[in-house]
Amino acid sequence: MTIQLPFDNSYARLPDRFHARVTPTAAGTPRLIRVNVELARHLGLDPQWLASPDGVEVLAGRRVPDEADPVAMAYAGHQFGQFVPQLGDGRAILLGEIIDKDGTRRDLQLKGSGRTPFSRGGDGRAALGPVLREYIVSEAMAALGISSTRSLAAVATGEPVVRERMLPGALLARVASSHVRIGTFQYFAARGDVDGLRILADYVIHRHYPEVARAKQPYLELLDRVVTRQAELVAKWLLVGFIHGVMNTDNVSIVGETIDYGPCAFMDAYDPATVFSSIDRQGRYAYGRQPGIADWNLTRLAETLLPLIAEQQEEAVVQAQEVLAAFAPRFETAFHGGLARKLGLSSLLAEDEALVGDLLQAMAENRADFTLTFRRLCDAVNGPEEDAAVRALFDDPDAYERWAVRWRQRLQAERQDVGTRRDVMRAVNPAFIPRNHRIEAVIDAAVERDDFSAFDELMAVLAHPYEDQPEFARYANPPEPHEEVSQTFC
Ligand code: AMP
Ligand code: MG
Ligand code: MG
Repeated sequence: MTIQLPFDNSYARLPDRFHARVTPTAAGTPRLIRVNVELARHLGLDPQWLASPDGVEVLAGRRVPDEADPVAMAYAGHQFGQFVPQLGDGRAILLGEIIDKDGTRRDLQLKGSGRTPFSRGGDGRAALGPVLREYIVSEAMAALGISSTRSLAAVATGEPVVRERMLPGALLARVASSHVRIGTFQYFAARGDVDGLRILADYVIHRHYPEVARAKQPYLELLDRVVTRQAELVAKWLLVGFIHGVMNTDNVSIVGETIDYGPCAFMDAYDPATVFSSIDRQGRYAYGRQPGIADWNLTRLAETLLPLIAEQQEEAVVQAQEVLAAFAPRFETAFHGGLARKLGLSSLLAEDEALVGDLLQAMAENRADFTLTFRRLCDAVNGPEEDAAVRALFDDPDAYERWAVRWRQRLQAERQDVGTRRDVMRAVNPAFIPRNHRIEAVIDAAVERDDFSAFDELMAVLAHPYEDQPEFARYANPPEPHEEVSQTFC
């Protein structure tokens, strides 16, 4: 059988020490869970072929297409602050790269495809629950307009994986603009392999940031671009209440896509200290700490680039620090600008910071649901007639009332007409996010009853997060007390 997948594998052509050539371990009796039809078409792949027995053979790692050149990528990383000089793809395989309809080169990776030389003690497998969570959340992020890896397909392997208990196994076919991470740079830096670093940096520039190639200092310029993308990405996370959960440097994409969805979650009630991940015992990666952590991670990237930036280390440090200093203001601009838009303000005046900050404080003190508060403000923007729905979200409704008086005063200074104001707000304040209790229900039905109807319905709702979808209004609601999920696992 010849399989026509238009691969062109630039990463596999890099020197041997960048990766290990591997063959996926065949899944026993694979069964397709879902193909992402739209994404497949965008990649120039035939979704019907992908869903056919031949396609599923490839998605399950049972057949390697002729044009593929599968590798496991080498990388290092700081995990919860501790440096680990060798991590690498222990349960994932880069099948190859495909040029999509926009002309963008995209990685196609199989996650859960068996052991590799980087597996250490792991089995190289993925359990169905985490595969579904990544599928749901990554696609929801994309629909929300947030840069993310994408999910092309999920396949059940028909084989159990051993975790705390036996669980059904699965594979995720994942698409990314790149799987190069900050940790990839750290891998070479940790070995003192400056040639490797330069090859990697040049590869990343050529593939992802070609505009910096002709700059006077391309590597410094590269750092600058990565800083901007991270600042904007993390601002967007915060604006929808997203908590990545494991912001280790090996989980930070060099192109600013959200990557490696593990115990990630969306916040229900607003509280900057929110942590869901069962492995984040110190709250290092709490919702409100994410900007500071991104900054810390970028500093680790900058350290790896020093030998490329200048011959004299002191000089390189000064230059890198100057670039890193741009993170905070870029994040603030993106975050505060985004908050202003969420409140119907076309720009942020100096005094607005207090207005925004006081709302968030009132929400925190009153356990107001993050997503619903902003969504309901879209209706309240044109007058207090719609206030009741927002009030109801606050333990002490007067806390909202007091704030709303100031908000309405401020809105009078806006020139935007009242009709469009609501629409503009609705385009940035989603009604639907992948709430934890919904994801848990989907996973439970799939794992315990082999029932994927809840998965399909949730995916359909999350494809249009900014539309009202009255027939699915219940999906907008926060969990009932008995549905609340306090921890997520990877
Ligand atoms: P992650 O938690 O996905 O960021 O992974 C951290 C590191 O552990 C990476 O090097 C993974 O490849 C590796 N890893 C995670 N789970 C497994 C597994 N089941 N088998 C082998 N390696 C794994
Ligand atoms: Mg190799
Ligand atoms: Mg990872």
